[in-house]
Amino acid sequence: MIHRLRERKRGVSRLARPGIIWDFDDTLVNTAIFFETAREKYARFMVRLGFPLDGVLETLNLLDIENVRRCGGFLKECFPRAMVQTYVHFCGVNGVAPDPDICGKVEEMGWWVFEQRPRPVPGAAEVLAELREAGRYEMFLATKGDPSVQWRRIEESGLRNFFKKVYVLKDKTSVEYIQIARRHGLDPRRSWVVGNSIKSDINPGLAAGFSCIFIPNPHTWDFEMEDPVGDFVTMESLRGVPGLVLGKTGSGPDEIHEAAR
Ligand SMILES: [Mg+2]
Repeated sequence: MIHRLRERKRGVSRLARPGIIWDFDDTLVNTAIFFETAREKYARFMVRLGFPLDGVLETLNLLDIENVRRCGGFLKECFPRAMVQTYVHFCGVNGVAPDPDICGKVEEMGWWVFEQRPRPVPGAAEVLAELREAGRYEMFLATKGDPSVQWRRIEESGLRNFFKKVYVLKDKTSVEYIQIARRHGLDPRRSWVVGNSIKSDINPGLAAGFSCIFIPNPHTWDFEMEDPVGDFVTMESLRGVPGLVLGKTGSGPDEIHEAAR
């Protein structure tokens, strides 16, 4: 008992378990592709209205990021609102009055994104099933975004039951990862964070003491880009995760990133 108390004092319990905290969007399911499709459709529509292609997507991106910052999180209205704001902005630049019907139409293009059913990344269910079968790690899902959208997407993905607990968070910083570890008795030194965002998965995971696996997704929003703060493993596909975390022979990371020192 004394031994255990001493360890608790140092913040390390012998009972602390290993776990994996998974990111959801564009790690286990593809969702950024919907935004990209909507942006492309929007750009074509703006060109048809007579606006120059140059600057439309850049302006849309800047206004979207500004909306997210102002809302303090990924609320679903940020993106459709940015589509209207961009149209209004270019109307102003070109000295024409915004048409309310067109405002409604471009807003609809933004809402379309949230009506789509997410498609699991190939291999996601198999990888989660293999890890659950192995039983070595308790698995958690930590996603940020609009709660109503995220909970629906998680249910529709069919992946919900692989996780001991699902967290839909306003933000993912080291604080949230530390809270999850404490709440579930996880030892970060023996646990992993897996995700496609340096800003929301890898850096806060590293800061919270986890080992991290970065699985880049070509559609990741540049809002999620950031310089890494430490060492992590990069994998081309989540299919490599079980081999790495279960320590099977013959499997290893595609790349180990070592932070500049
Ligand atoms: Mg993600």
